[in-house]
Amino acid sequence: MKKRRVVILGATGTVGQRFVQLLANHPFFEVVALAASEASAGKKYAEAVHWHLPCEIPEDVRDMKIVGMDSTFECDYIFSALPSDVAGPIETRLVEQGYIVFSNAASHRMDQDVPLLVPEVNLDHIKLVERQETLGRLITNPNCSTIGLVMALKPIMDLFGIEFVNVVTMQAVSGAGYPGVASLDILDNVIPYIKNEEEKMCSEPKKILGRLTEDGVDLATFDVVAQCNRVPVQDGHMISAYVETSEKVDLDELIRAIDNFNPLKDYKLFTAPDNPVVYLPDKDAPQPRLHRDLGGGMTVSVGRLVKVSERALRFVALVHNTIRGAAGCAVLNTEIYEFLYGRGV
Ligand code: NAP
Repeated sequence: MKKRRVVILGATGTVGQRFVQLLANHPFFEVVALAASEASAGKKYAEAVHWHLPCEIPEDVRDMKIVGMDSTFECDYIFSALPSDVAGPIETRLVEQGYIVFSNAASHRMDQDVPLLVPEVNLDHIKLVERQETLGRLITNPNCSTIGLVMALKPIMDLFGIEFVNVVTMQAVSGAGYPGVASLDILDNVIPYIKNEEEKMCSEPKKILGRLTEDGVDLATFDVVAQCNRVPVQDGHMISAYVETSEKVDLDELIRAIDNFNPLKDYKLFTAPDNPVVYLPDKDAPQPRLHRDLGGGMTVSVGRLVKVSERALRFVALVHNTIRGAAGCAVLNTEIYEFLYGRGV
């Protein structure tokens, strides 16, 4: 198959670098342009980027000239890793011009006709693109912690139903982008506040786990209470959750469901891990340093599973925030979109 041409917006940033890394040897996609702010435009990628991944900058993009946001792109798909405060109008314009945009930014996530997609959890929501009246299309992926939370919640919801979720996160510094949180603020410290994060964690799961209807998505009816903390970890967001269920909890049944959870197995997608969610029985698992890279960073680890009462349980989940929680999820969204729709709009 001829490779699909892709563009990365925000290519020099924390998520943009992950896109560059994940797309370097991708069998179906090739990076044809990199875009960033006016400060970077015109420079070679290797000169403009403050590369902080533990691998070389891929040869194909090292000397690529960065372009600005008002460029015309010859491409099939665009990945957006722009800050939310600038992404909104740029993504709207690109979609109106006919581009197919896969965004990490929060700007359009809750728009009625925009899928907020985690393919293993709500693949049917991809059909929302068919209601978009623009020449192009827009698909978003959720907030990084939300992705980990909903992937862990999905088997619980399918088995027992969900009435209420209380969640506390411990989020890595890479989640704040680069340069992100000042070292003097975060070293030897925990900061119990991340701007806009708790609001996203309370609203986005209700859309993702909501039901697709003729009119859009009926939001899930359970409430989410969230407390988000920044911790001195490089990559990997930990999520400590308490869940009240509609039906009686059976932990053995839940562990079996997690072990068998692989809704995308028939699609054979390059970025889809064999096990999107794993249950780790060790009493001190999961841990960011040990488990964030499972499944190439695409697997969400669940541990500390405890039945609290007949209809309540708690667990800890771990998600790699820049891979499954950002660039990896967007690449997977594009792979499944390509499978279902090809490039046609
Ligand atoms: P980041 O490290 O700050 O990178 C921002 C990127 O956007 C850089 O390439 C920057 O280019 C570019 N940019 C900044 N201002 C711009 C402007 N006015 N016009 C055009 N380009 C501009 O941020 P990040 O952490 O990668 O986050 C990117 C997006 O992904 C955000 O919406 C964020 O909420 C979302 N997200 C992040 C994570 C995470 O774990 N970090 C997870 C999920 C979602 P220059 O280098 O030229 O300034």
